[in-house]
Formats: sequence, structure tokens, C-alpha cells
Amino acid sequence: MSDEKKKALEAQIRAFVGKPVGPVVVGRDPVNEPMIRQWCDAMGETHPAYLDADAAKKTVHGEIVAPPTMLQAWVMEGWAMHEGYDEPKNEQHRLHKVLADNGYTGVLGTNTEENYTRYLRLGETVKALTVIDSISEEKATGVGIGYFITTKTTFENQDGEDLGSMSFRVLRFKPANAQAAASKEGESKATAQKPSRIKPPMGHDNGWWWEKVASDGVIPIQRCTSCQKLRHPPRPMCDACGSQGFDAIAASGRATVHTFTVIHYPQFPGYEYPIVSIIVDLEEGERMASTLVDCKPEDVSIGMAVEAVIHEDEDGFKIPFFRPAAR
Ligand SMILES: [Zn+2]
Repeated sequence: MSDEKKKALEAQIRAFVGKPVGPVVVGRDPVNEPMIRQWCDAMGETHPAYLDADAAKKTVHGEIVAPPTMLQAWVMEGWAMHEGYDEPKNEQHRLHKVLADNGYTGVLGTNTEENYTRYLRLGETVKALTVIDSISEEKATGVGIGYFITTKTTFENQDGEDLGSMSFRVLRFKPANAQAAASKEGESKATAQKPSRIKPPMGHDNGWWWEKVASDGVIPIQRCTSCQKLRHPPRPMCDACGSQGFDAIAASGRATVHTFTVIHYPQFPGYEYPIVSIIVDLEEGERMASTLVDCKPEDVSIGMAVEAVIHEDEDGFKIPFFRPAAR
């Protein structure tokens, strides 16, 4: 990118700093027990001050309160608000689109910081205002050059009482391989190179597993050489006998879907969306995380029979996926 073009881009993005992302968001429901219960279930939270009216009476609160870390949950807007950046729906989307249109196609959440002023009481309505707080200078990072964008959200109740705040930082970046192509062949081709899947870290404890997938075209399952217990994902020690000795068997590839979720967003370069992300029960008894392919998201069901297929990316990386089992 020429200096002049970059200057223009930076002027354009800096104009967003200080702007509210959109209007104040008002929680769709007041603070309520069913939502607290659902949230506690999902998080494994069991404190009686959140869940048991009688027990809560004896606490300093005198009644059921909401876990402070639920703060953002009260103002979540639902999926429709976040579908795609192609048609920006708010200032944050507009800012991201400007950067994406200029080659900063990658996005990565980097850190978030939350401050809680107090516990929330049943019946309170939570309101949130999010402002684009800052945009960094262009930084070189491990994934590519880009800008850190920080938004700050302040939370209040229906009477304007302070409930807390949250800052959220994302990195909007030019994927490193696209950058390399740009410096070699000129900028116009930067976006032409297809980004590839993020590779798993391959350490001493799990590198062998990926190598076996690639060389043998099977899903290996680690086996303790001392007591023969199977374990997955790979780890250094047997949880039954403590032995560090292991070999591996090849899974048959037959499995059933234990649970699944469909990922629409956030979208990383190098993946095709939506992704049907699954946990399967292998017929050998171990459980593994994978991706379901050749199946529409609406056709997935818990318990469905699936079979393994070793997928190969364009760059030669091999990864086990599953597809609906042939009948
Ligand atoms: Zn063992």
C-alpha cells in the first residue's frame, strides 16, 4: 500500500474513534431467575446466592442476585445483529468493513477486560452503550500486520446507576501469507492467495498423532502399553495406571454424533462457513472433536451415524473429518 493510500485509510478509520457503535442497547429481558439458572448450568456455577431463594435470603444480598460475570449476557442482541459484515449494521461493522476492503481480512479477538460495580438484582433492566475507544498504530504481529481496535461498553440500570464496564480488543490484520505474496508479486495479488487453515500446535505430546494421520490416513487412538487403556486426545500419561508408555491403534472411523454446534461467526480466512463442529463417540469408546462435512447444518442430529474421512487441504495438510455414514 502506498504511503498516501495508507494515510487516507488511517484518516478514514480514525474518524470512527469516539463514535458509539450504535444506539444504547436495552436488555431484552429484565434480570430474571430462569436466565440466571440457565447461565449457571452452562458455566457449572452452583453458588446458592444465585440459585436458591431460601439460601440467598441468608446472604448479604437478602435475595437471589445475578452473577456479576453475566453482565454482558443481559444485553446480548441475538444472532441477526451479527450476521455478516457485507451489509454493515452499525459503526463497528462499518469500521471493520473499511479495513477488510483494504486487505485486512483477518480478525482475532485478543483480550477483554470487565469491571463489575455490584451484583445485579432481579427485575433490573440493563442498558449498554458501546463506543469505539481506540485504534492502535499499525502493528506487526505473528499473524500479520494490523490494527488493534478497542471498544468500551458501559453498563447502567434503568435508573442510570453504574453497573460496570467492559473493554474488548480485536486485531484486524492482513494474513501473513497474503502479505508475503504482496511483497513478492505486487499488492494486487495479495488477496488472490487463498489463506489456509490455522495449523494445530504440534508438540511432543501430540505431534505424533498428526503425523500418523498424514502418513497412515487413519485416526490414531493412543493406547497405554502398560494397561491397554485407550485415551484421546493425546496426552503424556495414562489416567488409569500412570504409565507414560504408549502406542496407538487405528480407529475404525465409525462413530456417532455426541453433540454439535454450527459456527457462522466469527469467520476466519481459510475456512468455509458455516462449519458443523461435532463431538463424536468413536466406536472404540473415545470421544473426539471434529468437523462434519457433506451434511447440511439442518440435517445434523445427535446420535446420527458418521464415518471418518481424511480431508486434505490445498496446502497438503491432512485432518480427520466425518461425514454421514453410508447406509
Ligand atoms: Zn495405563
